[in-house]
Amino acid sequence: MEEVNKIILELKEKGYVLSIPRIAIIKYLVSNRTHHTAESIYKAISKEYPTISVATVYNTLKVLTNEGFVNQLFIEGERVFYDSTPCEHSHFICRICGKIKDIKDKPAKKASVDDNKIEKIYLYFYGICRECIEKKETKKQNKKI
Ligand SMILES: [Zn+2]
Ligand SMILES: [Zn+2]
Repeated sequence: MEEVNKIILELKEKGYVLSIPRIAIIKYLVSNRTHHTAESIYKAISKEYPTISVATVYNTLKVLTNEGFVNQLFIEGERVFYDSTPCEHSHFICRICGKIKDIKDKPAKKASVDDNKIEKIYLYFYGICRECIEKKETKKQNKKI
């Protein structure tokens, strides 16, 4: 787990103390590059480390977010999600099943907008996902028969 060691080293150099549960959280996020809630991380980690507290999960996520290893996603009417895919990308959110998908399409690269310097662009697309559209269509077909 080269990536895990890299993160641990970088955080240690910055003066963070990394307990075993904290390292377990980092390992989990690196091996599961997807969108997590603090609760889902807690559930997964507490299986192996029953003594871990929800506060430890939140603290670790705060550190990882501040240091740029994790991105927070704020989705309309939903809880905060933590995205452990490191590269900048946009998201599609299905209003039917709630699925969050990574969108590989890069948003138009602009250096500035109205004379404000742009550093990051995060786009959220809301709609109906491919799977839900297909389900709807099968239902329609069934009705015809
Ligand atoms: Zn869907
Ligand atoms: Zn993502």
